[in-house]
Amino acid sequence: MSSCLFCDIVDGKIPCEKVHGDENFLAFRDIAPAAPQHILVIPRQHIGSLNELDESLANMAGELLLLARRIAARENLDATGYRFVINCGADGGQSVGHLHLHLLGG
Ligand code: AMP
Ligand code: ZN
Repeated sequence: MSSCLFCDIVDGKIPCEKVHGDENFLAFRDIAPAAPQHILVIPRQHIGSLNELDESLANMAGELLLLARRIAARENLDATGYRFVINCGADGGQSVGHLHLHLLGG
């Protein structure tokens, strides 16, 4: 049994409102939106937090940013503006231990 909520979403054990899915990433709407548009972009691979990033994950990190930027454009947020947030650790406000980028806009 996985003990990671977002791995369970990746595995389809927990439903989500998907906005994007590909081989390496998944994006879905936040269950408790903090803005009119609040999308979470996650790697399918379990990475606990920013603390686990190293050289071997440099491509993943770049692709995560580019994908989030493309989703922002697809959601028509590029003209009005948006924010990316990645929380890390307890003091950083991270509540789910699977790396995720918040896309906030609207
Ligand atoms: P963080 O506090 O940065 O770890 O963000 C975790 C985010 O996951 C919060 O904004 C939650 O509202 C969101 N969240 C928790 N459970 C779910 C879920 N089942 N589906 C979608 N979003 C969720
Ligand atoms: Zn996970």
